[in-house]
Amino acid sequence: MDRITMAVHGGAYDIPLDARDAHRRGCEAAVAAGYAVLERGGSALEAVEAAVIVLEDDPTFDAGRGSFLNEDGMVELDAGIMDGRNLDAGACAAVQEVRNPIVLARMLLESDHVLLVGAGADRYARDHGAPVCDQAWLVTDRERERWSSAQLGPTAARRWFDTVGAVARDRGGNLAAGTSTGGMPSKPRGRVGDAPLVGAGLYADDTQGAVSVTGWGEAFIRLVWAHRAALLAGAHGAEDGAVRALAILERLDARGGLIVVDPDGTASCRWNTPAMAFAIRGSDQPLTSGPA
Ligand code: ASP
Repeated sequence: MDRITMAVHGGAYDIPLDARDAHRRGCEAAVAAGYAVLERGGSALEAVEAAVIVLEDDPTFDAGRGSFLNEDGMVELDAGIMDGRNLDAGACAAVQEVRNPIVLARMLLESDHVLLVGAGADRYARDHGAPVCDQAWLVTDRERERWSSAQLGPTAARRWFDTVGAVARDRGGNLAAGTSTGGMPSKPRGRVGDAPLVGAGLYADDTQGAVSVTGWGEAFIRLVWAHRAALLAGAHGAEDGAVRALAILERLDARGGLIVVDPDGTASCRWNTPAMAFAIRGSDQPLTSGPA
């Protein structure tokens, strides 16, 4: 019963060779942060939040500072978190002045509501003490240059998935999942992807599994992908469940990847893109990470 497991991801796409070390190291730092929470008896929910904060604060990834810019050259962030114990969930979307959207999502999980968007969500963050920032702080030079040079046309943007996420199992056997993103490069203002949507970008149910995904959000919303992946983990275990979940994407010819932990605490990571950034560590699973 007391097996603990932590898994994180930092996107799945053709991660440039010169960015692979930073992706792997960022994931290893996040898994260490989450695992430390679990080791000292913290909950899966706390561990997921701690791990995602590390990934949001790392400008390597498309989450928090360093996220892709929308068509207006602005960062708009989405995040969601879910507790497998009681199916509590919290999420925010299209926020522009929140440093750690996963913290706001966690606050909303504790509230009477599940999802807040846009200016209302920014105001909620300010009013309730979530870490806020100026919009300008979220925008890095790298992303400003990428946006100005329009390196990514609409087709390429659908193959550039740098979202982050985490899943965990704590000593009590509880599961949790979280996902955080800046969405797609040059997305229309107000576009919301799968990441904050329960069942699409994340799902956690202690009796089935916990899942966080990355990839083409418009497909994952329609496929209700994370929920289906969690059910498959419950029925077949994390390893086989993740393989079966990936096969669901064929229907829409979608690209992406997922991390899964099942109720026993086995974690798995699968992707159908050229590479995926991830790290997994459990009391019964030595640290594995990628991309190589
Ligand atoms: N799934 C995210 C979205 O569509 C993108 C990603 O995974 O990087 O917003």
